[in-house]
Amino acid sequence: MEKSLKVAVIGAGVAGLAAARELRREGQQVVVVYEKSDQLGGTWVYDPRVESDPLGLDPNREIVHGSLYSSLCTNLPRQLMSFSDYPFEIRKNGELRTFPDHEEVLEYLNKFARDFGLVELIRFNTEVVRVQRVNDQWIVGSRSTMSDFSLEEAFDAVIVCNGHHTQPRIADIPGIKKWPGKQIHSHNYRVPETFLDQVVVVIGDGPSAHDISKDIAKAAKEVHLSSRSPEIKVSKLDCYGNIWKHPKIDCVCENGEVAFQDGVSVHADIILHCTGYNYDFPFLETNGIVSVDDNRVGPLYKHVFPPKLAPSLSFIGISLTVDLFHMIEFQAKWMARVLTSKVLLPSENEMLIDIEQQYKRLEEAGKLKHYTHNLLYDEFEYQDWLAAQVGEPGADEGLKQITRTLLKFLADNGWFRYFRALGTLFSPRTLSPPSQQSL
Ligand code: FAD
Repeated sequence: MEKSLKVAVIGAGVAGLAAARELRREGQQVVVVYEKSDQLGGTWVYDPRVESDPLGLDPNREIVHGSLYSSLCTNLPRQLMSFSDYPFEIRKNGELRTFPDHEEVLEYLNKFARDFGLVELIRFNTEVVRVQRVNDQWIVGSRSTMSDFSLEEAFDAVIVCNGHHTQPRIADIPGIKKWPGKQIHSHNYRVPETFLDQVVVVIGDGPSAHDISKDIAKAAKEVHLSSRSPEIKVSKLDCYGNIWKHPKIDCVCENGEVAFQDGVSVHADIILHCTGYNYDFPFLETNGIVSVDDNRVGPLYKHVFPPKLAPSLSFIGISLTVDLFHMIEFQAKWMARVLTSKVLLPSENEMLIDIEQQYKRLEEAGKLKHYTHNLLYDEFEYQDWLAAQVGEPGADEGLKQITRTLLKFLADNGWFRYFRALGTLFSPRTLSPPSQQSL
C-alpha cells in the first residue's frame, strides 16, 4: 500500500505546480499548495507594481514577488519552456511562436494546472510565515493576505518552492554613498519610459543586463553597460546607436561621474543593478540546520534534500540550468517517489559526504561558493542522474542538442547577438543558429 502523507507545497510557480502534480501522481491525497498571490504562475505573472525602495533593500518595504519587465520574451525556445509530457502549444494571434512572451508562458502554466487538477489544491492569497519541525511533524503557519485570518497546521512533509528572483543582490561600488544619482535594481524595472533622455549605467553580465539595456535604449539618451569581464574595453555597439560596453566600475564621484576601470568615465543619471538575486526563506525555522551562506543553500543533497531533515523537507527549483522546466520536473518526480519510499535516499552520513565532495570539486574547479547551485554546462549530467533515480531515460537528446546549440552560439557571439538572433534568425524548426554574415 502507498504511504499516505499530508504534504504542504510552498508556492504555485513552475516548481510548486510540478511538485504538486508528482505528489498526486504518487497517490498523495492531501496536498496543500500555499500561494501568497491571487494567481498561480509565480515569476510569469507580470506585476506592473514596483517596490517603495527601488533597490529592494529596505526590510520594511512591501515586497512585490515578480521581476518581469513588460517587454520580456523568453530567452529560450518553447521546447525548453514546457514539461516533458505537456508540450508548449500556446498561440499568440494564431501563431505558435518559438520564443513566447510572458503572457504565453503564464497561459501555458494555467492550462497545465487546470488539466492536471492542480488549481483546486492551491490556497490563494495565503502566505506561509512559519515552517518549523515540532516532534515528528512540520508546523506550517500561514496568514491571509486579504484579512487578519491566520492558521497553523501540521504536515508530514514540506516542499519549498518559493522562487529565487525576488530578493535583489546589488553591486558594491566605491563612493556610492555620496553619488547623487538614482539607483534601481532590475527587480523593479518594468518599462523603458521611466528612463526617457537619461544617461544610464547598467551593471551586469547576464541575460537581464543585456536585454534590459536593449529595452531602455529605446528611451534613454545613453546606455553604458558595465560587465565584470576584465578584457572588455570601452566600445560602442554598432547595432544599437546609444549603447556602450565598459569594464567594471572603478568608483563613482560626488559630481555624478561614474569611472570605469579602463579610465573612461561618464556623467550618469541612473545606475541600474542587474546583478541577480539572493535565496531567501524567511519562513523557515530549522535552528541553523539549513542556512544560506553567500548564496549557497546548504547542506542540500543533490540540491534538493537537507540530509538531517530528509526526506520530510525538500527544495525544488533551487538549481540554475538552461533546461529548467525539465530539471524541475525530474527533481519533483524524485522527491515524490522518495516520500512514498519507492526510492530510497542514502544514509544521512553518506549524503553529507556527497555534499562535501561536491563542495570540494567546486573549489578545485575555482568556482566560488556563490555559484554552488549554478549547473550551467553540467546540467545534463545532473538531469540524467535524477532520471536514473526514478527509473526513466535521461534528458531528451533533441533538447540536449538545442541547449548545446544555444550555449555555443552564446559563447561565440555574446548576449547582444544572441538576443538579436532570437525570433528572427533561429529557424523555428531546426533551431539552427544564424550564419555570422546575417548578424
Ligand atoms: P517562482 O516562479 O518565483 O514561484 C514562486 C511562487 O511562490 C510564487 O508564486 C510566489 O508568490 C510564491 N511564494 C513565495 N513565497 C511564498 C510564501 N511565503 N507563501 C506562499 N507563497 C509564496 N526561465 C526560463 O526557463 N526561461 C526564461 O526565459 C526565463 N526568463 C526569466 C526572466 C526573468 C526576468 C526572471 C526573473 C526569471 C526568468 N526565468 C526564466 C526563470 C524563472 O524564474 C523560472 O522559469 C521559473 O518561473 C521559476 O519557478 P519557481 O516556481 O521556482 O519560482
